[in-house]
Order: sequence, then C-alpha cells, then structure tokens
Amino acid sequence: MNSLLTAYITLICTSGVLNLYLCIHVFINRHRYKTIAYIFIFYTSFIAIYCFASALGLTGTTLEQIKFWTIIQYIGMPISSPLGLLFIMQYLGKKLTKIRIIAILAIPVISFVMVATNDLHHLHYKVFQIDPVLGAPYIYQEIGIWYAIHGVYTFGCMFVAFLLVLSRWRETAKIYRVQLVALLLGQLIPMLTAFLYLIGVTPKGIDPVPMVLWSASLLYLWAINSSRMFTIMPIAKDAIFNSINDGVIVLDESHQLIEFNQACQRLFPKLNKSALGIGFNQVYFEISGESVPFNLEDSIGTQEIQLGDNREKRIYQVRTSLLQDRKGLLIIFTNITEIKTLQVKLEQQAYSDELTQIFNRRAFFEKCNAEFAAANKESSPYTVVLMDIDYFKKVNDTYGHPVGDQLLIHIAKLCQSQMNKEMLFARYGGEEFVVALKGRTASESKKIANQLRKIIESRPLPTPEGDISVTLSCGVAEATEKDETLYQLLNKADKALYEAKGEGRNQVRVYTGVENRIKC
Ligand code: GH3
Ligand code: MG
Ligand code: MG
Repeated sequence: MNSLLTAYITLICTSGVLNLYLCIHVFINRHRYKTIAYIFIFYTSFIAIYCFASALGLTGTTLEQIKFWTIIQYIGMPISSPLGLLFIMQYLGKKLTKIRIIAILAIPVISFVMVATNDLHHLHYKVFQIDPVLGAPYIYQEIGIWYAIHGVYTFGCMFVAFLLVLSRWRETAKIYRVQLVALLLGQLIPMLTAFLYLIGVTPKGIDPVPMVLWSASLLYLWAINSSRMFTIMPIAKDAIFNSINDGVIVLDESHQLIEFNQACQRLFPKLNKSALGIGFNQVYFEISGESVPFNLEDSIGTQEIQLGDNREKRIYQVRTSLLQDRKGLLIIFTNITEIKTLQVKLEQQAYSDELTQIFNRRAFFEKCNAEFAAANKESSPYTVVLMDIDYFKKVNDTYGHPVGDQLLIHIAKLCQSQMNKEMLFARYGGEEFVVALKGRTASESKKIANQLRKIIESRPLPTPEGDISVTLSCGVAEATEKDETLYQLLNKADKALYEAKGEGRNQVRVYTGVENRIKC
C-alpha cells in the first residue's frame, strides 16, 4: 500500500473515530441534553459507518471486496446529509412531523437498495470497476440515473441546512454564534469537498468527503463544550415575537409600520408585509375600514377598543409604549373580550334582582346616590316613590309562594314598561319597589305613581286558578333641604307610604312635612 493511500485511510479513520467519539459522548450525556441530541447521535453514528466503510474499502484488493464496502458505505452516507438537515431543522425549532421525517429519509433508503442491487439494474453505477490504470482500490465509475438523483438530493439537503442556519445568523445573539459557525461549517465543508470531487479537482477514483469530515466533528465538539450546544440553544427572536398571543405592532418615530407579529395578522387578516413602511393611520384604515380608534400621541397608555362586527364583537385592550431611546412606538393588542363579558355578567348579577331581573337594592343605592348628589348640586328637583303591594301575604297564603313570585315578576314588568331613562326603578325589598325620579317635583311624581297604581290595579295576573288582582300603596317624597341625605328622603317616602296604608291602601300619599301631613 502506498503512503498516499495510507494517508487517505488515516484521515478517513480520524473522521470515523471523531464521529464515533461524538456519538458516544452525546449518547452518554443524553440525559443532560435536549431531545435534539438524539438526532445528532444518529447523525454522527451514520457518518462513522460511512467513514469506516470508506476506509475499509480503500484496503480492498478485489472488486468484490470494494463493492461490499461500498454497500456498507451506503448505509451511512446517503442518510447522513438528510439527518443533518433534520437535526438543523429541529435545532432551529421547526416542527418535525412523522410524515416530514419519512419523506426526508425515503431517498437515502432507496439509494442504499439501489447500490446493494446495482448489479441487477445498473441504475446507480452504469459502470463500477477497478481503475484499469491506478488499480485497486481506485475505482473507475460511470454514474447512472439514480446516482444523479442521490447526488442532487444529498447536496440539496446540505445546501438547505446551510441556508436555514445562515438565515438565523442576524437574529442570533453573539454568544450562540459559535454554535451556528459549527453548524454552518459542518454543512459547508463536505458540500465544498463533494463539489470539488465532482469537478475533478480531488484525487481520482476516491471519495474525498470522509477525509474532511473530522474537521466538522471538531467544530461540533467545540460548540458542545464552549457554548453548550444541546443544553442551551438560542431561540430566534422571531420565534418569540410570533409566539406571543397578543397582537404586537412596532412603529418608527414617524409612525410608519416597521414590524408586526403573527397574532396581529390573525387580528387583522388584511394585514400583510406590503404594509411595512407605510404610515400607521393609512395601514389601519386599510386593514379595518376605520380610522385609528386609539391615541398614538398618548405614547404610554392603555385604551380599550372594539373590533369585529356585531355578530362577533371583540374587545381589545391597547397598550402603547415608547421603544428604547424613544425611537418608535410599541402597540400591544390584548383580547379582553372574555374578561369583559364576564365582568358585565358579574355586574349584572351583582346589580340585578334574581327574581324580577330589575335593579336590586344595592344597584338602586349606588346609582341613586350619584344622581341625588348631582341633583343637589344643580338644585334640580328629585323625588322618590316607595311602592308596597297591599295584602301580599294573603296571595302567598292563598296561592302559595311560587304564585306570589310570579305576581312579583308580573308587577315588576308592568312598572318597568312605564319607565323612561330618567327614572330609576328597583326592587327595594320583599314586595316593595322604589322609583327615583330626577327633575320631577312631588306633584309630578304623584301623577306617575297614580298611573302605576292604576295599571297594577287594572292588570291582574292570569293563573290557572283565575286572575289574581292586587293593589299598590305609594309614598312620595321630594328632596327639599339642601343638605338632605338620600336616607332622609327615603325615610320621608316611607312615612308617606305608611300613611297611604293607614288610609286604607291602594292610594298615593305625598310627604309634606312632619307636622303637616296632608291627605292628597
Ligand atoms: P300590607 O298591605 O300591610 O303591605 O300587607 P302585606 O301582606 O303585603 O305585608 P307583609 O309585610 O305582612 O307581608 C309581606 C309578605 O311578602 C311577606 C313575605 O312572605 C312576602 N314576600 C317577601 N318577599 C317575597 C318573595 O320574594 N316572594 C314571595 N312569594 N313572597 C315574598
Ligand atoms: Mg311590605
Ligand atoms: Mg305589602
């Protein structure tokens, strides 16, 4: 064996040993690494098979021996570059579905079968014989159609893997670039060597790729030890940006759109990359059909907006904040529809009476206090009417509590139908209701109370056991003193109601002063 051949074999064996070492090293430490290490173990083990078979092939003296080691080489070689691609895809956070893996590994499997059965069809090597000039183990070969397919595919996998890594360069933090360098050269070195072999620059009759693979292995070792490849991997900022559920928009100083994430595209389906560089006011109009509903000048703030049509109304909280160095604006859209719906529901529950669905006592006091204070300030009239159903207990006793409930609902509905937005109507207690009337004097409110009374009297509740008719007694009181409280006002109305009851019920009484109670 000449010394040149010995040098080739030594180089190839070095590649094989280094890949085997990498494979074993990562395998032993696999529990410390992320799942990505598993593909790497396969990747390096197949490269090791490729290298060792290639080295053993160079020791062959007969065509049969060389053919045998070529078949063994093809267990490792065709699969290693697609495995390298899968490894890089996983490293960059791309999804590896079963179908993707099978599709990527299909051609290498066929290539192996093609080489193993080449004597039958000659589709891989048209001619495969010992070089008549150089002798064994140098090979003279003429490539077949499948060789071309396999070659293009192998080259393509390395090239795609190389481009994928390269595309991440800019957005990867400096400390992780060591990993990228290893990955890039890990693809580039065999790719370039294969290319040189193809154009006939490398020694004839020998595949030079395994002779250079040791350099890629050293780079991987360097990346694993220096920047902890497999333990900490850079996550592309793009991936983070796009995995945020909130819609994010970035504007520059002059409010031109410079970035948006995928969630934002889901929010505004018409938004696309062609809008980049255009003023946000124009972009917003084009994607939503309306002008910007929040203030861009309010550069640090929270606002609420509604999007979508009436059928599917969505509420968003829009937060705007200045970017670092005040060189732009960040706008974040958070969908708060669910929270808002829940809030409205809870408010409704807290403020409405469960039985009659009108305002409850708590809602009445909250709203009335505010109205009453405003009326006091403006010195405008303010009146309350307390209404109590006459002999309601008898209804319960005669027809049962559920029918009593139905009657309360019936009366609440009748009264509610007479209200306008100036009137605040609520259930005050058991069978008592209250109306607060802003801007109305006692005599005006007395008229309204009488209308309600008459309606209740004339509209009995139809039940299977017959119509149930009840009457109302009402006490009316108008705020007269400047510093009068709502509590005092209601107390006066209660006194007037007490009088209406005392005078025989089914009537309205107006409070006109403690000493001077006048029958109206
Ligand atoms: P008056 O004319 O003096 O007001 O007589 P009344 O029977 O209406 O008054 P009373 O205060 O003696 O009775 C009120 C009744 O209202 C007693 C209570 O059981 C009934 N009640 C209170 N809340 C409800 C309710 O939610 N459903 C039903 N069915 N009855 C209620
Ligand atoms: Mg009562
Ligand atoms: Mg009553």
